[in-house]
Amino acid sequence: PMIARADLPKVDENDPQAKAMGYVGDTTKADKTKFPKHTVAQKCNNCQLFQGKASDAQGPCPLFSGKSVAANGWCSAYMKKA
Ligand code: SF4
Repeated sequence: PMIARADLPKVDENDPQAKAMGYVGDTTKADKTKFPKHTVAQKCNNCQLFQGKASDAQGPCPLFSGKSVAANGWCSAYMKKA
């Protein structure tokens, strides 16, 4: 489906859902204590759930319906793209 990516508001890190997921707009800011398996190589744009193109700065993610996540962002549902 066509999604107007540029029009989607960015996920706010302080949204309750974002906080619950440990979402950050910059993967280097992920909480290392809560998420010891996180590495800075893990980012939204190499996550299986990222719906943007690899070159997009922001893209949709089904976990944040109607919003866009940062290409360099991260959350605890991260799954490396196969
Ligand atoms: Fe980013 Fe993947 Fe989490 Fe969505 S599921 S916010 S694309 S790390």
